[in-house]
Amino acid sequence: MPCELSIVIPAFNESSGLPHALDTIKAIAANASDSYEIIVVDDGSTDDMPGLINAAHARTPEIRGIILSRQFGKEAALYAGLKHASGKAVVTLDADLQHPPELIPDMLEQWRNGAEIVHGVKQDRGADSLIQRLTAAIYNGVFSRLSGFDLRGSSDFKLLDRRVVDVLTKKLPESGRFYRGLSAWVGYQQVTVPFDVAPRETGERHWGGLGLIRYALHTVTAFSSLPLMIVPALGLVMLVIAVILGVEAIFSRLAGNSISGFATLEITILFAASMIMIGLGIIGQYMARMFDEIKGRPVCLISRSIGMNNSPGNDF
Ligand code: UDP
Ligand code: MG
Repeated sequence: MPCELSIVIPAFNESSGLPHALDTIKAIAANASDSYEIIVVDDGSTDDMPGLINAAHARTPEIRGIILSRQFGKEAALYAGLKHASGKAVVTLDADLQHPPELIPDMLEQWRNGAEIVHGVKQDRGADSLIQRLTAAIYNGVFSRLSGFDLRGSSDFKLLDRRVVDVLTKKLPESGRFYRGLSAWVGYQQVTVPFDVAPRETGERHWGGLGLIRYALHTVTAFSSLPLMIVPALGLVMLVIAVILGVEAIFSRLAGNSISGFATLEITILFAASMIMIGLGIIGQYMARMFDEIKGRPVCLISRSIGMNNSPGNDF
């Protein structure tokens, strides 16, 4: 039986905070809707998340679980949860209570008034350091310039109408998923709800510097092919420099001076080589994305489920 509200929670090694988070979310969901389900997607945790989800399900049958076969990352976990949620409205929420579940009733209200996507937008970035704020600002600036979608303050805390969930899980087959970008891309009636990022109570954040750089490269190349234009632009810069140097060489010759020195030659070669490398690097990024998509591998694999009605197989 499909329910009205599904809450999808991707979770990796969150056992320290999960019982408390589930209690809080459950109380709010039960108040906000007559029929709800909470789906925790265990993203290959190494702590005993399946045990915890089992125990929670035994107490509250509305709490269900999808256990992925290994850690596939938050994007994949979100996708698995959306794919198997049955609700007419689906909320996606972090397991660490950094996305305030108290906002769920407001989001539902907006949905009942006709909104098809309710985006939770970060107002205050909580305990983020100056560097984190700065890199987020640069990333968001570059992304919106290149893709045309303004994702400033955007988060994975969202409510989606069934229609949007179906589009995201059935009509967009790409394996390099970017939830925030895709849910802006689909259109429909979108509204925003501001929220302040609460501090993480237990456990730790799962992002390292390198992971963030990879994430930034993946998402930008998934949403814009404009960086490819940098390649011919670099070529144009090289051409202009070559013409200037060529003209200078001819004039020097006519004026009776010898063609200017070895240093110029060396700098020009190094400059040209670095432009070529940058160009190849940009093309390489797109080839890597094409390689990933062409392989057509599933976004993630499910090892088992807990309490799901339609026992999810590996139907990705
Ligand atoms: N998460 C996940 N897989 C991962 C990394 C994170 O399912 O590989 C989950 C994590 O358990 C949490 C949410 O994604 O529920 C947000 O992760 P985190 O708090 O580490 O990131 P931040 O809040 O800094 O964005
Ligand atoms: Mg967090």
